[in-house]
Amino acid sequence: MATVAKPTTPTRQIGAPPMVPRIAPREDLNPFRIAQIQFDMAAEFLKLDPGLRQILRTPKRVLEVSLPTKMDNGQVKVFTGYRVQHNVSRGPGKGGIRYHPNVTLDEVKALAAWMTWKTATVNVPFGGAKGGVICDPKRMSKSELERMTRRYASEILPIIGPSMDIPAPDVYTDAQTMAWIMDTYAMTIGHSAHGVVTGKPISIGGSEGRNEATARGLLYVVEEACKLKKISLRGATVAIQGFGNAGATAARLFAEKKAKIVALSDTRGGVTNSRGIDPIKAIRYKERSGTVVGMPGASRLSNDELLTMKCDILVPAALENVITLHNAEAVKARIVAEAANGPTTPHADEILARRGITVLPDILANAGGVTVSYFEWVQNQEGLMWDVDEVNARLQKIIVRAFHEMVDTMRKHHVPPRAGAMILAVGRVAEATLVRGLFP
Ligand code: NAD
Repeated sequence: MATVAKPTTPTRQIGAPPMVPRIAPREDLNPFRIAQIQFDMAAEFLKLDPGLRQILRTPKRVLEVSLPTKMDNGQVKVFTGYRVQHNVSRGPGKGGIRYHPNVTLDEVKALAAWMTWKTATVNVPFGGAKGGVICDPKRMSKSELERMTRRYASEILPIIGPSMDIPAPDVYTDAQTMAWIMDTYAMTIGHSAHGVVTGKPISIGGSEGRNEATARGLLYVVEEACKLKKISLRGATVAIQGFGNAGATAARLFAEKKAKIVALSDTRGGVTNSRGIDPIKAIRYKERSGTVVGMPGASRLSNDELLTMKCDILVPAALENVITLHNAEAVKARIVAEAANGPTTPHADEILARRGITVLPDILANAGGVTVSYFEWVQNQEGLMWDVDEVNARLQKIIVRAFHEMVDTMRKHHVPPRAGAMILAVGRVAEATLVRGLFP
C-alpha cells in the first residue's frame, strides 16, 4: 500500500530539536504508482511469478513527442505529447487520447495500464494503451486544435494502426479529434484505414451507440449491482461529478430509468436539487453558458460537497484522485460507480469497503466505451454497419457477463469489486503472456 506519513506529535521536550509543524496524513497520489499497487494486489492473489510481475507492471512502450504548432497569432508553440502502450499480449493496443494542462507521463502510463485491465475484464481482444497532450484545449481555437492534433497524429503514426494501436476520445477530445487523426493517418499511408481510431463521426465509419456507450455500460453495471444490493433504481438518488461525455450521458440515461439526479458538476462547480434536476435542461444550459453552474431551479454546491452529499449512487465522471483518504469517511453514497478512470485511491478504497460502500471499479464500470469501440473496429474491418439496438444488445451482454464474472471472482477470493475485477483481468493477461512465451 502507499505509505502514509504519521502525524507528528505536538509536544516538545526541553533540549529536543525544534518542533516540526503538525502535518496531515499524506497519501501518494501518483496515478501510475496507484495502478501498480492495484496490480501488485492482484498478482499476489494469483501468486504470479516475479518475472511475469515485472513484465505486467511496466509499459511495453513509451513515446514522447514534441508538437510544434502554429497558433492563430502567427507564433509557434511547442506542445508535449505521449503515447504509451502498456500491454499487447491479447491484441492491439487500445485507449483514448487526453488533452489537459495537467497531463503527465505517469498519468498516461496509469491510464494505459488500466486499459489493459479493462479490455481484459470485458474480454475484448485488445491490449492497453493511452495518449495525452499537455495543452489547455479550452484556450485554443478549433484551427489550433486541428493543427496540433494532426502534428500529434503524424508523430505517433509509426506506432498506431488498426492492428497495432487504436486511439479513441478521452477528456477534452471528441469525434472531431478522431476524424483529424484518421485523415492524417490515411493521407500519410495513401489509403483509407477506418480502423485506426474509434469514436469517429458516424459519417466516416463511427459506430451507432459509441457516443453514449461509456454511460450506457455504466448503467448496465449499476443495474446489476442494484439487483444484488436490493436497491431500486427507480427513485434512487444520483450525484454526478463531471458533465462531459460520460457524466452528462449518464445523467440522461439514469433519468430515463426514473432515478433522481440530485447533483451535477463541472470544473466551475456544481448544482443540486433534492427534488431532482432535469439532465436535458442541464445539457442545454451548459451548451449555452459553458457550465451547469447557475442553471435555474438548482442551488449551488462545490465539487467537494457533491462527493460527500447524501445519495444512493455517486458517479465520479471527471478525473483521478477525487475520493481519497481525506474525504472517504465522509462519502454517504451506497454505491460509487466509477465513470472516470482512477477516481478512488487505494486508501479510500479500503475505507469505503470497511464502511460497506460498494465501489464499482472503473475497469468494469466505464468499459462500455471500449466495448463499443471494439464493435466499431469490427464493423470497420468487416465493412458492416450495425444499428443502435444491435450495438446496445451486444454491449449489455458483454457488460453483464463481465459483471457476473467479477462477482464470482469476488466470492472465490473474498475481496471487494475492484480486487475481483483486477484478479480476473490480470489472470487473463498473465495467461496470454505465458502461452505466447518470451520473445526472442
Ligand atoms: P469530457 O471531456 O467529455 O468531460 C469531462 C468533464 O469533466 C467536463 O464536464 C469537465 O467540466 C469535467 N471536469 C474536468 N475537471 C473537473 C474537475 N476538476 N472537477 C469537476 N469536473 C471536472 O471527458 P469524458 O470523456 O466524459 O471523460 C470523463 C472521465 O471518464 C475521464 O476519467 C475519462 O478517462 C473517463 N472515460 C471516458 C470514456 C469515454 O468514452 N469518453 C471512456 C471511459 C472512461
